[in-house]
Amino acid sequence: MEVFQAFKNHEQVVFFNDEKYNLKAIVAIHNTSRGPAMGATRLLPYKSEQDALRDVLRLSYGMTYKAAAANLDVGGGKAVIIADPKDKTPDLLKAYGRCIDSLKGRFITGQDMNISLEDVNHMRSETEYIVGVAQANPTKLTAMGVLEGMKASVDFLWPGRTLKGLKVAVQGVGNVGSIVCKYLNQEGVELFVSDPRTEKAEEMKLRYGAKIVSPKEIFELDVDIFSPCALGGILNSEVISRFKGSIIAGSANNQLEDEQRDSKLMDAKGILYCPDYVINAGGLIDVYYENFGYDQQTVFEKVRQIYSTLTEIFTRAKAEQKTTVEIANTLAHEKIFTPQNKVKLLQSV
Ligand code: NAD
Repeated sequence: MEVFQAFKNHEQVVFFNDEKYNLKAIVAIHNTSRGPAMGATRLLPYKSEQDALRDVLRLSYGMTYKAAAANLDVGGGKAVIIADPKDKTPDLLKAYGRCIDSLKGRFITGQDMNISLEDVNHMRSETEYIVGVAQANPTKLTAMGVLEGMKASVDFLWPGRTLKGLKVAVQGVGNVGSIVCKYLNQEGVELFVSDPRTEKAEEMKLRYGAKIVSPKEIFELDVDIFSPCALGGILNSEVISRFKGSIIAGSANNQLEDEQRDSKLMDAKGILYCPDYVINAGGLIDVYYENFGYDQQTVFEKVRQIYSTLTEIFTRAKAEQKTTVEIANTLAHEKIFTPQNKVKLLQSV
């Protein structure tokens, strides 16, 4: 087996196995040239260990780019615990906390799917390398970043226009999507939502007058903005060919089924696409500042910079006739592999 190739050039991939507490976890550290790797931990009953490995490698790679695009001095990492949420116990979480502690700060983690605040506190009883437990409210800040991205997109396409009166379709109204709806309602937007959890969609209808549509219909609406806030991998050639809107701006991670193909398809159709790891960095920015004496004003200012980062990406993409994904990757890459970071790396060896 060609391990280094298979591990997508990760610096370190650690497999933790603690039979006493039924703990099976994988921590993937992709790149630490900007600082210690940061990435949340998700707990899922993966169908196979291969699926878990694929997920953690893909997500940690993305975290390196997200941190760099947001100009944060951390690298990219991610962790998965392979378990059914119903088998989650405080002992398992504490055992996991000890695993994280053994990495001595090379990896800092927090809450992702099926990990609650209470769970994070169990981990924290065993290690200090945990974020998202103090003042931070990553979900809210992720939604704020998405709103900034939408404003930047609208101003780029239609200079001087605001969100007022535009039609926006939000796919998935969970933690992030529901707050995005709240902010959009405050901006005077006409909302369309879909979510298989019908009670969540009903709540948006009741609170913000959103029109509920089926998960299939949401892609085909004649709206200005489509906001994917549910699952990854939802944008593919078939969906893009049916799409009628002008802007795609949402929180979901890894939105494109095939990054190269789908970003080119959107570009050819004149759709302005906000690269996912740029627009959804608000939550990471929020927990990052927990390490440096949390100051809400600083966090808000940093999240607002998503607007200018995206404007720069749109401007360069237009001028250089490249896709927004290509420009975002180039900008992030420049920040990850600066000569200064190479020196930092050498010094740490
Ligand atoms: P969540 O689980 O709270 O919400 C997701 C919602 O999407 C759920 O209500 C679910 O029922 C719905 N959904 C699932 N399949 C759907 C479909 N086919 N059509 C419509 N709705 C569907 O998750 P979240 O925390 O709100 O995160 C949303 C997305 O944003 C995820 O992809 C996540 O990885 C990403 N993200 C979240 C954060 C954060 O701060 N929470 C940060 C960065 C990225």
